[in-house]
Amino acid sequence: MNNDRSRALYDRALSVLPGGVNSSVRATLPHPVFVDHGDGGHVIDADGNRYVDWVMGYGPLLYGHDVPEPVTAAIQSAAADGPMYGVPTEIEVEHAEFIARHVPSVEQVRFVNSGTEATVSAVRLARGHTGRDKIVVMQGGYHGAQESTLVEGEPGSQAPSTAGVPSEFAEHTLPIPFNDPEAAREVFAEHGDEIAAVLVEPVLANSGIVMPVDGYHETLRELCDEHGSLLVFDEVITGFRVGGLGCAQGKLGVTPDLTTFGKIVGGGFPVGAIGGRADVMEGFTPAGDVFQAGTFSGHPVAMAAGKAYLEYAAEHDVYEHVNDLGEKLRAGITDICADQAPTYTVVGTDSLFKTVFTREGPTGEDLEACCPAGCTQDPDCPRYDYCPKTGADVARAETDRWERVFRQEMKEQGILLTGNQFESQFVSYAHTEADVEETLEAYKHAL
Ligand code: PLP
Repeated sequence: MNNDRSRALYDRALSVLPGGVNSSVRATLPHPVFVDHGDGGHVIDADGNRYVDWVMGYGPLLYGHDVPEPVTAAIQSAAADGPMYGVPTEIEVEHAEFIARHVPSVEQVRFVNSGTEATVSAVRLARGHTGRDKIVVMQGGYHGAQESTLVEGEPGSQAPSTAGVPSEFAEHTLPIPFNDPEAAREVFAEHGDEIAAVLVEPVLANSGIVMPVDGYHETLRELCDEHGSLLVFDEVITGFRVGGLGCAQGKLGVTPDLTTFGKIVGGGFPVGAIGGRADVMEGFTPAGDVFQAGTFSGHPVAMAAGKAYLEYAAEHDVYEHVNDLGEKLRAGITDICADQAPTYTVVGTDSLFKTVFTREGPTGEDLEACCPAGCTQDPDCPRYDYCPKTGADVARAETDRWERVFRQEMKEQGILLTGNQFESQFVSYAHTEADVEETLEAYKHAL
């Protein structure tokens, strides 16, 4: 495969973009693929190589690179009318109405410009609402590039996970292991009356994809209710993907106080949103006293794209298609792993999939009883004790092998996967059974 032009572009980029990229995860080894254009479920790179694309913009592209006609028309019409105004437009109201109609916990919505901005604003709102400073997050969870959540360690010895964040920020953030109800009870026993909110991805989707164990979110809900804290679901990835239009909270049957959205809600354009109960949401200025504002917030083109995206999904078999292909991928990879890499765990749900290169697990006959289409955290499964339940479990896997060998081997076979072991992969409406077949063949070879 010829990569000369991608390599040359990376070389130029290194002079003018720090690390050669505008988002750290894009700096894949040995150099990023520079995309020229998309085509359905595929991308074509600057050297003319075609790939089946499972990166899909890291989640927003529910329709792949060919947007359905009504979505294109909505985008073009909004752009042609004038890019933005800085005063309200009808489309913001309509998009918020759609979200409130479909997501169980949402009565009101505030649109912002990215998932990061959504989680920043949600944390500020929770602090303003409760008059408390501390937030609980999950180790291995991700809520964007923001000061309050780039924190690692254990409650008591937590510290910023990056340079540039004052340690005072980390003092207010308590990271606990996902799926560990006892750790959640302990942190509330010690800090209950200081905790403004628990911020959690309903499915840990930036850590190899980890499903919640039965009853975990219910425990968080109960603890928040007992202690007057808010439960905030970060559905930036899962929103309008896992559980369809009702989102992961609808699928799991747990109602958060606030939800953060991004990705799909903007139909491929920059967006974020905070949604929730009206009495909490009205804490935002000008209704309340928690300041929140943004020049580009509710951008008409992003609103038009997002609203048309969701309306199209409501009227077509979009979730059936992407979930069906997601299941076929997970089932196919499960079979290949049983044969070639029996300790590896296939993870994901709906249209998310990944393989975590776990180092230990049952082999032989026991494997036949394993979750056939991706880990569901079934306690009766022989793999249960070995499948990842926390971010740390994923970090203990063969992450280097994934990044330095496997992903590159897949790329050489024309399959584009996300840059590291931790990031999800995404099925779109444009993907086909042939893409799944081609991908499974490549897995067979690469594994
Ligand atoms: N929250 C979650 C769960 C995410 O996955 C991400 C990004 O991947 C964010 C927040 C941040 O969103 P953005 O990259 O749009 O700022």
